[in-house]
Amino acid sequence: MGLGADNTAARRLRLLQQEFVQPVRSGPGDGRSSRITESPSLVNLSVVDRIRAAVYEVETHTRTVAPNAGQYTGDESRVYDWARQHTAHLEAKQQNAREAIIYRQGLEHAIAAGDTAVIRRHPCPQCSCYGLYWREAVRRAVCVNHFCTDDDGVSHMWELKRLAHEHVARNSVVARRAT
Ligand SMILES: [Zn+2]
Repeated sequence: MGLGADNTAARRLRLLQQEFVQPVRSGPGDGRSSRITESPSLVNLSVVDRIRAAVYEVETHTRTVAPNAGQYTGDESRVYDWARQHTAHLEAKQQNAREAIIYRQGLEHAIAAGDTAVIRRHPCPQCSCYGLYWREAVRRAVCVNHFCTDDDGVSHMWELKRLAHEHVARNSVVARRAT
C-alpha cells in the first residue's frame, strides 16, 4: 500500500537526535546553536524524553495489536521499521492506525526540531484550504481562513493526531484506487 516505504518519521527522528541530543557541535553556530548553549541539559533532556516517549508509544501500540512482537531493543529511529514488520499481516484498518501514529510522530519530530512548516502541507479538515499554521501555546494547527470558525468565532484548531489521521486516510484511498 505504498505507505510502508515512507521513512520520513525515522529521518526526522534522526535529525532531532543529531540536532539536539548529540552534544558535540562543530564550528560556530548557525543561529540555532546559540539557543542550545544557553541551557544544553534542559533542551537535550526534553528531547531525549520526547524521543523515548515516542518509541514507547510505538512499541506499546505494536505489542497491543501483535503480542508476539516482543520487546524492542534496537536503535530509536528504527522502531518504525520494527512496528511495520510485526504488523504487516494485520488488516488495512490496523495498518492505517499504525501509520497514523508514525505520521503524527513524524510531524512531532519536525516541530520539535523547529520545522513548523510541515503543518502547511495539510488541508484544513473543516474548510479544506491550505492555510494551517502551528500555535505552540496550544500545540494545535490553526486555520487561517477567517470564515473557518466555530460558533463563537474562534478559528478552528486541530491536533496533530487529527491531521495525521486524515493524511493516512487520504493516502490509503489513493493507494486502493491505484491497485
Ligand atoms: Zn479551515
